[in-house]
Amino acid sequence: MVVRVALDTPLRRLFDYLPVRDFDRPGHEPRPGVRVRVPFGRQRLIGVVHSLATSSELPAEKLKPLLEVIDAEPVLDAAVMELLEFAAAYYHHSIGEVMAAALPKLARTGATAQLLIERWFPTGPGLAALAGDELKRARRQRELLETLRDAPGIASEVLAERFDDWRTPMRALVQRGFASSAETPHEPPASDTPLLRGTGPALSGEQAAAVAAIDGAAGRFAPFLLYGITGSGKTEVYLHAVEHALRRRKRALVLVPEIGLTPQLVGRFRERFGVTVAVLHSGLTDSERLAAWRECVAGSARIVLGTRSAVFAPVADLGVVIVDEEHDASFKQHESGFRYSARDLAILRSQKAQVPIVLGSATPSLETLQNVETGRFTRLSLPRRAGQALPPRAAVIDLREHAVRAGIATPAVEAMQRHLADGGQVLVYINRRGYSPTLACTACGWIAPCRDCDARLTVHLAAQRLRCHHCGADAPLPASCPQCGYAVRHVGQGTERVEETLAQLFPAMPIVRLDRDVVRKRGDLESVVSRIASGEARILVGTQMVTKGHDFPSVTLVVVLNADQGLFSTDFRAPERVAQTIIQVAGRAGRGAKPGEVMIQTEYPGHPLLKSLLAEGYDGFARAALAERAAASWPPFAHVAALRASAGALATATDFLRQARQLARVPRGIKLLGPAPAAMAKRAGRYHAQLLLESRERAPLHRVLDPWLVEVEGIKAPRDLRWSLDVDPLELF
Ligand code: ADP
Ligand code: ZN
Ligand code: ZN
Repeated sequence: MVVRVALDTPLRRLFDYLPVRDFDRPGHEPRPGVRVRVPFGRQRLIGVVHSLATSSELPAEKLKPLLEVIDAEPVLDAAVMELLEFAAAYYHHSIGEVMAAALPKLARTGATAQLLIERWFPTGPGLAALAGDELKRARRQRELLETLRDAPGIASEVLAERFDDWRTPMRALVQRGFASSAETPHEPPASDTPLLRGTGPALSGEQAAAVAAIDGAAGRFAPFLLYGITGSGKTEVYLHAVEHALRRRKRALVLVPEIGLTPQLVGRFRERFGVTVAVLHSGLTDSERLAAWRECVAGSARIVLGTRSAVFAPVADLGVVIVDEEHDASFKQHESGFRYSARDLAILRSQKAQVPIVLGSATPSLETLQNVETGRFTRLSLPRRAGQALPPRAAVIDLREHAVRAGIATPAVEAMQRHLADGGQVLVYINRRGYSPTLACTACGWIAPCRDCDARLTVHLAAQRLRCHHCGADAPLPASCPQCGYAVRHVGQGTERVEETLAQLFPAMPIVRLDRDVVRKRGDLESVVSRIASGEARILVGTQMVTKGHDFPSVTLVVVLNADQGLFSTDFRAPERVAQTIIQVAGRAGRGAKPGEVMIQTEYPGHPLLKSLLAEGYDGFARAALAERAAASWPPFAHVAALRASAGALATATDFLRQARQLARVPRGIKLLGPAPAAMAKRAGRYHAQLLLESRERAPLHRVLDPWLVEVEGIKAPRDLRWSLDVDPLELF
């Protein structure tokens, strides 16, 4: 017998091994889905058994035995294995890297998949110290130790719920010999734990109809688009769909965008359900991630809530799949390694599992709308708040006609005065963080460039730094021009400068800012959100972050400072992104009792996209945009793959792509476009270029890719050249 193993290497193949002879652990046998340790050259690697075969293409004497079978039970079940296999074929990526992407980091390095939970106990000296006054001055340590005294054996998870940061004081307690831990197997929750812990509001007619449609599709593949603005009650529909699945003794998989996985959302699931909810996202520490994954493997998690890679979570007996904010770009992994769309794979997963899937959004992707158009998906609408149209009073401010102070036009300032005087909150959206996007010399024309990118450095005034938002370069802010010594000035605005200007205009109004510079660690987002939700802050200035999933009922005015960015991009998807952002930001206005008003500043008030968006809302925009895509043969009316290359010199990258182009044997109907340098060719010191393949039909494109990639792999290129294939790319630069 030969064991075929998927190893985390870029090589697009499996590796054959002989089974281990004497098992020191009974039951640990190689079978599909279990992890094994194998010799690989001079290294030892951990891989996943893909399959068992009777023979190998290699001669028997060349085969080496496995070193160890790590798991007694598969950590990737048959359904997930099938999904991964499909994904490797569809994205033309190494099966080993694809399987690695499905495992948390610690599982890839061999951590046990068994559910252990870390429990904490006070020691005798610890209890004595509490009784005395030894811990009087160490408040956090004392409180933590008191908790252990009152609940000896308390689990880490529970501590994490009660304390913001308990690891630091715990470390101190352990060092002083006052506390100790033990790992014990998790006790499965008693079978009589109630399914529901809380109840939600009575459903509206539309919500009830949506839930009934989803529930009526139980046991078969049925994709639904749940179309409704934020606050229209989508989450409530998800909660009910999940409840119905749980009642049928099934499990639920819920995917949310990177930034959408807020503690509020997790809280809503945990408050509603008595069952274990495993949460998987990139903000977790490695061990937290491992712990959540173990809950999935063991099957104790009935609900799995996570971001992108959670689509691969081992969830047996799936009953329903939910993808919230399905249009969100963070579902596509496009930066490195295995580039996949978690939304598309979620659809495939529910197809294989024969369960309904709900794709929710206020601004669905054009792909999804087209799937509704062709009847593949069923549309469920929650039109409670004025459908998908903008709130009634939406207006454009023509920047060419009005006085503008630091990016804010007079009519916007006047509207802000009005709303603030009426007791409303105001949200100002600008798609740029920092103080100003450019630092320029007043005399010689010098502009602070990034050395490693085709980009300017952004001024961060409070921090006194110049930073590149593309490569992370960071330098002190010069007080004068490094070239001629004259004064420098800040050109344009970012959130930091808008905040400063608003503070001058409205000195009595508390302002908060929401962007990646403010939100750096866990808890930051919550504190900003709570200052707005409580009404303490009256003005909110923010980037895209303000558009994601928060409910600010007292915001009555939304001002979009620069709608123009993206209107003229070379990327065919840019208009879709602009429209989605405007609608999502505008949707923050007038969520409560008071009516909302939206003002969009632009230099191009006649732009057809803005006009259709204002006149007919997202639906109207989407109709126009789909017609444009059809006319130009872009997705969803065509299928695209991008071969990308980067190197220390642009010529190296384009030469490589030119050779690749020559090797491609494409039938009629498939177009090759490029190679062309990326719109921002130089990034982080490397030059990027791409070659596009475009085809009306999906199948012929994929037939071309496999044999072609074998040839591309054979191209002799300089060592610094890196290349990758992106199937269904979201961004074309
Ligand atoms: P979405 O997910 O579309 O943003 P939510 O489900 O979060 O919408 O609903 C927004 C708010 O409205 C929540 O506070 C929720 O509890 C409330 N809500 C949802 N459905 C109803 C309903 N049928 N009746 C009353 N309140 C509701
Ligand atoms: Zn100068
Ligand atoms: Zn840079």
